[in-house]
Amino acid sequence: MYKGIAGSEGIGIGNIVIIEEHQIHIETKTVTDTEEEIKRLQSAIEKFVIATNEMAGKMEETVGKKDADILRGHIQMLQDPMIEEQISALIVAEKVTAEMAVDQVLEQTAEMFSQIPDELLQQRATDFRDIKTRMIKLLQGIEDVDISHVPEDTVLVARDLTPSMTAGINPDNIVGILTETGGKTSHSAILARAMEIPAVLSVPGICSIVKNGDKVVLDGASGETMINPDETVIKQFEEKLSIYQKEKELLAEYAGKPTVTKDGIKVELVCNIGKPEEAKKATECDGEGIGLFRTEFLFMDRDSIPTEEEQFEAYKTVAEEMKGKPVIIRTLDIGGDKAIPYLGLKEEENPFLGFRAIRFCLQREDIYKVQLRALIRASAYGKIKIMVPLVTCVEELRRVKEMAADIMKELEHERISFNKNLEIGVMMETSAACMIADVLAKEAAFFSIGTNDLTGYTMAVDRGNAKVAYLYSTYQPAVLRSIKRIIECGKKEGIMVGMCGEAAADPKLIPLLLAFGLDEFSVSATSVLKTRKIISDCDVSECQKLADKVMKCTTEEEILNLL
Ligand code: PEP
Ligand code: MG
Repeated sequence: MYKGIAGSEGIGIGNIVIIEEHQIHIETKTVTDTEEEIKRLQSAIEKFVIATNEMAGKMEETVGKKDADILRGHIQMLQDPMIEEQISALIVAEKVTAEMAVDQVLEQTAEMFSQIPDELLQQRATDFRDIKTRMIKLLQGIEDVDISHVPEDTVLVARDLTPSMTAGINPDNIVGILTETGGKTSHSAILARAMEIPAVLSVPGICSIVKNGDKVVLDGASGETMINPDETVIKQFEEKLSIYQKEKELLAEYAGKPTVTKDGIKVELVCNIGKPEEAKKATECDGEGIGLFRTEFLFMDRDSIPTEEEQFEAYKTVAEEMKGKPVIIRTLDIGGDKAIPYLGLKEEENPFLGFRAIRFCLQREDIYKVQLRALIRASAYGKIKIMVPLVTCVEELRRVKEMAADIMKELEHERISFNKNLEIGVMMETSAACMIADVLAKEAAFFSIGTNDLTGYTMAVDRGNAKVAYLYSTYQPAVLRSIKRIIECGKKEGIMVGMCGEAAADPKLIPLLLAFGLDEFSVSATSVLKTRKIISDCDVSECQKLADKVMKCTTEEEILNLL
């Protein structure tokens, strides 16, 4: 079995077709007639524009306008005056061929983008290399790879799928994609997901492991693939495929519906996101809002703190995308396993028990104030709520509320608009917060239970330590009692209680959470419909009977047997 990155979910069973790129060879030579070279360049650019528009047209039919526009963008990238002029200038100055000039200028540009520590901008490097290869082929008269006529049940294997190659994909014939490079946000992944073709990416050495015609099975959700598997494995994958297809058909019925239990209890089903761009996916997957925006991602992969303006734009984008639906934004949660090198934090012996999240923010109010100001300003554009992570005592919540009140006074003075009723809530993820949940519930506008950390802190388990990993379980009586207590304390004070840890999408736990009275479930965008289906199949009075039994259990094993 080979393992790669889970690029696009689904099960693929088929035969391999390797997409071999022509080896391009560029001869080094000096030209005498530079005008002639410029003419060759212009003619290749014209052909490029025509071919690209044709491909984008095809793609618009198979995949949709948004993805076709990625290809159309290649025309603008090539015809950018800076790029075109640089290529022509190089031909004239160095007396090189059009191929050599195209190669040099576009490779340099690609290299520049690949150095930027931002995954989306790095993607531009793939785009420029795709344009470069196609232009050189046009100049040398090499025909492009055409994958529109591959046989049925094909699993494509390529080093990387460039946008121009993907344009020829016919989803009726292609049942899977395997690549040697590319990550979750690469164009190959985005397009595979848009076409709903299962894909496993970055499988080390896959191009040299397989031959044309090899039988292959792949699971795009787990990132696993097997070449020439035996009959039993093929049967297992056929079963998986049939379950997956049935589930998908069933789940589609739940799109656009409210999230209500069989006996009419309505709950909120919202999404967890890490970047503002993901809010769109949340809407597309029918999320009813955002239950957790992990803002630390805005601070990562860069070398300085994002400015108030940058943060404001990010929060405003999400608020606007969600059009008045709730958007819970968690303030900076760094430390623990999330490092931000430019903040210069010292290494600690026990990072999970150390200078983390709200503890850092309240000692660096200069940084925290910028975030709170950006958040409060963005609250004018949607239903933003602020959530404070890793709270262990009520003073922490009080200080955040004081800071927010001071900022609101400042903004009023500056005549900048914001939502005066902006809610500030607590992420319930430590055993201390659970023990004082009654106290916190009187001062917090809402609770959201972070079971990922709550499990670790309640069980006193370091998740990185394999020897004690068996104790890291949300099914442990101690963790379930903590969850129940937090919900009860919140309900008693009449505040909303949600959950944004992984447990919110756990089919085994959902009936229990409904019985406890959880108001909001925050899950990944791709889990929305599945979670809605599970909730819709539940009858809360039945769930309560189950919960009564579960809460009498004394061990994790007994609980799991019941659930
Ligand atoms: C949690 O702790 O449950 C949670 C959702 O936050 P994170 O995983 O970002 O710590
Ligand atoms: Mg957490």
